[in-house]
Amino acid sequence: MPANRKLLVLPGDGIGPEVMAEALRVLDWMAARRAVSFDVTEGLVGGAALEATGHPCPDETVAAAKAADAVLFGAVGGPKWDKVEFERRPEIGILRLRKDLGLFANLRPALVLDPLVDASSLKPDLVRGLDIMIVRESTGGIYFGEPRGIETLPDGTRRGFDTESYTEAEIARVARVAFGLARQRRGKVTSVEKANVMLSGRFWRQVVTEVHAAEFPDVTLEHMYADNCAMQLAARPKQFDVILASNLFGDLLSDLAAALTGSLGMLPSATLGAEQPGGRRAALYEPIHGSAPDIAGRGIANPCAMLLSTAMMLRISFGLEAEARLIETAIEHVLGGGLRTADIMAPGAARVGTSVMGDAVLRELEKLAA
Ligand code: NAD
Repeated sequence: MPANRKLLVLPGDGIGPEVMAEALRVLDWMAARRAVSFDVTEGLVGGAALEATGHPCPDETVAAAKAADAVLFGAVGGPKWDKVEFERRPEIGILRLRKDLGLFANLRPALVLDPLVDASSLKPDLVRGLDIMIVRESTGGIYFGEPRGIETLPDGTRRGFDTESYTEAEIARVARVAFGLARQRRGKVTSVEKANVMLSGRFWRQVVTEVHAAEFPDVTLEHMYADNCAMQLAARPKQFDVILASNLFGDLLSDLAAALTGSLGMLPSATLGAEQPGGRRAALYEPIHGSAPDIAGRGIANPCAMLLSTAMMLRISFGLEAEARLIETAIEHVLGGGLRTADIMAPGAARVGTSVMGDAVLRELEKLAA
């Protein structure tokens, strides 16, 4: 069978290559056992790219990412490059990819797998079965708005300022992503802003309402002030399906939602670009954790966030829902069976390293596919 799904793999630094190795084993399994194959190219990013080419995101990597249907990204950075000038820092690698691929919608699921219900900061009953998707606008808003600066006024007073600014098109395109995801899930979007005190928030609400009425009337839309949303996430998180927010509010709310689920080693993410004619869209999938220099090279990193990012890729970029579910279910069964990496260790569980965790996931995939 010809492989027509083009995948660029960027392992990066630290534990990036360690967890990516497990993702590649799962993709090999998919090719062998599910006839789902990928045309995989490996590229350089972060410190690894800096060492080899002098740049944390060389042009060849950007070109390969543009030519691919999806990018699977590990992690970048580490103390080795602490003294490198700002423009060459490994972290610039991911920023350039986001910018050059036009990746404006950051998707972070907050999913509580049953075996990890005790790892949450909330009571088990509040989070058991939790499954929220946060869609954060990631290329606009106050982190990029102009004017911005720190200045001294004529009377000698110093002031610092940023600008929250969104165009109609910027709001509409990220809203479409949220509504589209809701259609594949439980059919509800909660759009978050501060329309009570910010005009840009009032405009956000207006545009989201218009997109909803014109294109997604089958989806339930509710609006919520960002401060209330933070409170509701901590008090009654299961009321949410998809949360849609600006760059700033999405940043805060997605970290709060992450805390509800337990460990960094379990959290995947996706960042999507605009849909092009034919339905293709640029997409990058990565765990939300970094390169974890404190544990790199020891073979103890949790590969689950990387594997769950791979599952997101199969579902969103390639429409392979059944295969995505297989990975998610396999991970849930492995954790339920009592195997744990150090970061999610629980009393009575067996502590294992990265590759043994990968072995266990593959064994479980075999059982599920039998
Ligand atoms: P980090 O996410 O790398 O690590 C934070 C803590 O969580 C560490 O104690 C680490 O051991 C642990 N941890 C993270 N992932 C884990 C996993 N899969 N399994 C087990 N434990 C895990 O964050 P940091 O320490 O603040 O940053 C380290 C480097 O990573 C820095 O250079 C930072 O800039 C970079 N970083 C990169 C990305 C990215 O590539 N997108 C994201 C965040 C941080």
